[in-house]
Amino acid sequence: MRVLVVLAHPEPQSLNVALSKVIAEELQTGGHEVQVSDLYAMGWKSNIDRADFPTFPKDKPLAIAKASQLAYTAAHLTEDVMAEQKKLLWADTVILQFPLWWFSMPAILKGYVDRVWSCGFAYGVGEHSDKRYGDRYGEGVFAGKRAMLVVTAGGWESHYSARGINGPIDDLLWPINHGILYYPGFTVLPAFVAFRVDRYDKAAFDATADRLRERIRTLSATDPIPFRPQNMGDYEIPAMVLRDDIQSEGQEGFKLHQAPSSEKQL
Ligand code: FAD
Repeated sequence: MRVLVVLAHPEPQSLNVALSKVIAEELQTGGHEVQVSDLYAMGWKSNIDRADFPTFPKDKPLAIAKASQLAYTAAHLTEDVMAEQKKLLWADTVILQFPLWWFSMPAILKGYVDRVWSCGFAYGVGEHSDKRYGDRYGEGVFAGKRAMLVVTAGGWESHYSARGINGPIDDLLWPINHGILYYPGFTVLPAFVAFRVDRYDKAAFDATADRLRERIRTLSATDPIPFRPQNMGDYEIPAMVLRDDIQSEGQEGFKLHQAPSSEKQL
């Protein structure tokens, strides 16, 4: 495997950085290639703005998607963005690793997605017709590649359970798993989440590191989240509503967009 880890933590001595070393070591032990984009260490620019599109006319209002598409097509994106796109294309597996901050990813990682998932690259691609609505949700530039989140959270596992006050962790991670990873084509694996990490001692760290090593060893064999592909008949086009006759027994909320295991997958 060729694995890209995109890591978002500002502290080299943090739990997250320690766990990223566990991931890299386990992959190297297994004979795999690994690259780590350590966003804070790289001084990653997190906000998308006019500087991202150096050749966009200075006298025109900045329309981000248009500017992004023009710059991507002409290879006029900034060097840092193009370097990350190259790494993503090199990888067959991508891991986004971060501490849960305000129920989501740190801003630097969101900014990575805003800037690197360019128009014409990760969105705004493919045929739009009465049969297709672009290459997305199961199709797109990352089709055939796997992706997984590695997340640490201060809250308890029960706080993130089906009836937990924070909401189910799979629902909280849904915008990332479905909207950021599945959208441009990744096959998305269930997230690795470590809960209640703020008072970790060595024993707790070792147990989590063991659990993480096992997930890394089984990356290529793990069943993905069975998100429903967009252009394969489950949705009415162009409304993009799940067909009425698909009952999805027992599925509701975000889970409507996952096929029950009894249904055939793409
Ligand atoms: P660290 O602070 O680096 O370490 C955590 C513990 O692990 C410490 O006890 C440390 O001593 C120990 N440790 C670190 N490295 C090792 C090692 N190598 N061996 C043994 N022990 C080690 N939590 C939620 O659940 N939901 C939220 O919405 C949320 N929002 C937050 C927003 C902000 C802005 C912040 C700052 C925190 C938030 N938290 C939230 C908590 C956050 O998720 C955790 O603090 C974070 O996941 C801990 O990861 P870390 O890498 O920063 O850990």
